[in-house]
Amino acid sequence: MALRFWHRKKKLPTSPTWSQTPAGGQAEPSLSTPVSKDARWRRGLSRLRNVFGRPFEHIRYAGQGQPESETLFSELEEVLIGADVGVQTASRLIDHLRDRYLREQPGDSAALRTYLQEEIRSVLHENSYIPPLTLPCPWVILVVGVNGVGKTTCIAKLAARLKGEDKKVLLVAGDTFRAAAIEQLSVWAERLGLDIIKHQYGASPSAVVYDGVRAAVGRQADVVLIDTAGRLHTKAPLMEELKKIIRVIDREIPGAPHDVLLVLDAATGQNALSQARTFQATLPLTGVILAKMDGSAKGGITLAVSGQLGVPIRYIGLGEQVEDLEEFIPEDFIAALFDDTTPEISLDDMPERP
Ligand code: GDP
Ligand code: MG
Repeated sequence: MALRFWHRKKKLPTSPTWSQTPAGGQAEPSLSTPVSKDARWRRGLSRLRNVFGRPFEHIRYAGQGQPESETLFSELEEVLIGADVGVQTASRLIDHLRDRYLREQPGDSAALRTYLQEEIRSVLHENSYIPPLTLPCPWVILVVGVNGVGKTTCIAKLAARLKGEDKKVLLVAGDTFRAAAIEQLSVWAERLGLDIIKHQYGASPSAVVYDGVRAAVGRQADVVLIDTAGRLHTKAPLMEELKKIIRVIDREIPGAPHDVLLVLDAATGQNALSQARTFQATLPLTGVILAKMDGSAKGGITLAVSGQLGVPIRYIGLGEQVEDLEEFIPEDFIAALFDDTTPEISLDDMPERP
């Protein structure tokens, strides 16, 4: 089914929702009633389809009215850039599309649409994730990203998913710079019934990570999920601190961390991409999680990340609840974008978030 990507897969434990306080950006649990899951995936899908739908309207016009092809392509490029695809990837897509259009001179708009679909497919597949044949044990996952993008929430979502696969999961509260961050992960650990290694607020992040990986080996955990801070530390710059954490992990478990996942807020568009470049320049990233795709994200960031970073997108966050995480499967994403059978949903029909 074309929309498989957007459907929930499994019932997971109920969890608290978290909200940022306006002043300090500190997350606190909230017991507000969430918008229904169905409405949330429909909202995420609407945003993407509305934005990506616009170029397709142009394509339909191209078939019927035969406008100047150059006007058509530059308009298409503009729309893609406006949808957060990024200048570099948008130009590449349009160049390929134009070449093929001029070479094959298709008589109908459906062909152009197919070409665009194929170009998008090739961008997404260039850096798709190939899971390892055997997973290391413990499998150490370090989660990084700037403050507020959704790292801690993603860790909870991943932990719930892995626990659902009968993995023994250990959480490590490596964001020691905010007391609320330790508390937030602790609440998730309790709700999900998971062990957590934590130190006091203000402790050295490397020290808690050291204890975390040693505990993982001692307790024979299958997976260790390590939370980190996203802000500059007063003593050491963030990247230096993260590099130190990686050295500490590697010393205890050679070759680890096996995954360094960068969380980006999909709604921040090109800003997210420049954050990604900064992290990528220093850390051995193995994947990206695009959080908050249910909000005002335009969706083109998926192509920008795939086309320009060379790092696979691993998961998509579609809400604040623990089950709102989907594996990123390029074919499902393309099918959702190009599926004509999905009724258009007006954003006005969407209930607002509480
Ligand atoms: P961190 O500072 O990177 O650890 O970010 P948090 O995990 O604390 O998340 C910051 C805020 O974003 C919280 O209010 C989360 O509930 C919210 N959030 C996280 N992921 C998503 C998502 O996929 N969708 C939406 N709408 N909100 C999210
Ligand atoms: Mg956090």
